[in-house]
Amino acid sequence: MSYQEKRNLVKPLKMKTEPTEPSDKELLFEFVEKCTEFINPALYKELRRRNIAYLVEGLPFNKADARVEIVARLHKEEEAAQKRKLRQQQREEDERNERNLKREEVRKFYAQYKVPFRFKTEIKERLSGLREGSSGNGSARNTVLHLVTLEGFQEGRLKREGHQFLCSQSASKWSANWSGTLGDDLGQTWSDGSYNQYQAPITCKQCLKIMERWKVQ
Ligand SMILES: [Zn+2]
Repeated sequence: MSYQEKRNLVKPLKMKTEPTEPSDKELLFEFVEKCTEFINPALYKELRRRNIAYLVEGLPFNKADARVEIVARLHKEEEAAQKRKLRQQQREEDERNERNLKREEVRKFYAQYKVPFRFKTEIKERLSGLREGSSGNGSARNTVLHLVTLEGFQEGRLKREGHQFLCSQSASKWSANWSGTLGDDLGQTWSDGSYNQYQAPITCKQCLKIMERWKVQ
């Protein structure tokens, strides 16, 4: 078998493809070829549609110079885009690290206590539907997070049924939670750097005061 015959054997199948749109770069060079002396309205319109018309502003009239200028401008654009990308990646990494640090903080917080019943973290909701503060990512510092019992317990004079706030027996069902579903959902969770959800810490002063009795450290 000749070389050519072998070559024909491994020739990839020719795919029938739709004609593809020219790239920004191709269009810009087309502009240089056609438009350094007069403007081609359709081409210029297309450059504007792609928000790249500024790249042909004030180009030299000489085609060779214009080509060099276009290459330089595209290079600058690519550099800027690369820098933006790196900055974005850095921001994302910083945020991941921050979220993981936060999770470790919360793990240490809960390690201090041995609460003798199942519970979750919850914010008090008002009848208006407005919450005490925004929540979800651990950055909202003013959000007060309460402990909500998931089962009843009694310890001396301290008694709660399931699905009540630890800090206020009376406020639990009616004034603080009109829907009566306190404790049925996941409660307030935050997410770590890998988007794993975990239980937000308790920050309500009253809840924390009562939790003192379960402190193990
Ligand atoms: Zn509370």
